[in-house]
Amino acid sequence: MLTRFAPSPTGDLHLGHAYSAVLAHAAARAAGGKFLIRIDDIDGSRSREAYVGASLADLAWLGLDWDGEPLRQSARRGDYAAALDRLRARGLVYPCFCTRADIAASLSAPHGPSGAIYPGTCRDLAAAERERRMVAQPHCWRLDTAGAVALVGDLAWEEQGQGPRPADPLAHGDIVLARKDAPASYHLASTLDDAMLGVSHVIRGADLIAATDVHRLLQALLDLPTPVYRHHPLVCGADGQRLAKRDAAASLASLRAAGIDGRALAGDLLGQRLPTGYSLRMP
Ligand code: GLU
Repeated sequence: MLTRFAPSPTGDLHLGHAYSAVLAHAAARAAGGKFLIRIDDIDGSRSREAYVGASLADLAWLGLDWDGEPLRQSARRGDYAAALDRLRARGLVYPCFCTRADIAASLSAPHGPSGAIYPGTCRDLAAAERERRMVAQPHCWRLDTAGAVALVGDLAWEEQGQGPRPADPLAHGDIVLARKDAPASYHLASTLDDAMLGVSHVIRGADLIAATDVHRLLQALLDLPTPVYRHHPLVCGADGQRLAKRDAAASLASLRAAGIDGRALAGDLLGQRLPTGYSLRMP
């Protein structure tokens, strides 16, 4: 059993992060396994170094210990690029020059689980035009999702305690695998890292169930093992909405400053006893 907690250093951790980290830690320790930390700092424009240290301090305050040094996604660019090259060599990704405004303006931009479904504008550009624009224009790289699904067929993953759950990558359309401003999207980086680290059980919030559709497809395309997944309910505030990084009152830093005992809080979260005003809900 090897689990991980993967904070993005873009804000303070809150009770929802604590719940996720406590579950993953407890699962690993109960099985005599390992608990790793991954720092999702691939987005250089939003990541702040101060939040890396603050997140690790919050986890230590909760009484969680982790194995080895935290893995930094920013140190893994070469592996992300190599995976993209493999997909490019098979004709499964293409450069996309569209701006957000271009996509929003498309009449046929319905929404899927990952936001607007890309209308496919750049999928069938002629090779010469593609080459010319790649030199001159910023571009991201998108997966030809239908082409990929045609290669690998139907996919499923094991949702812990619930058995197999079918994956529906087509619902996401042609997702971005490498961004204009970052060498890999969350989907590509997370899938590769979980495999490289040997994560056996991905324990994370149920807001990421749909992302697993995409991760399962990438595993099939890149010959990566499929972990068992456990998508847990989300911590919600008094308004019934899931917590966000801007909810300062629920931040672990403010709870710590208020004199709360972090280890006791971790034990309560594990027993699904939440502080007054908070509840656990499936989205
Ligand atoms: N950094 C991601 C997040 O905070 C991790 C998601 C995951 O566990 O895969 O949402």
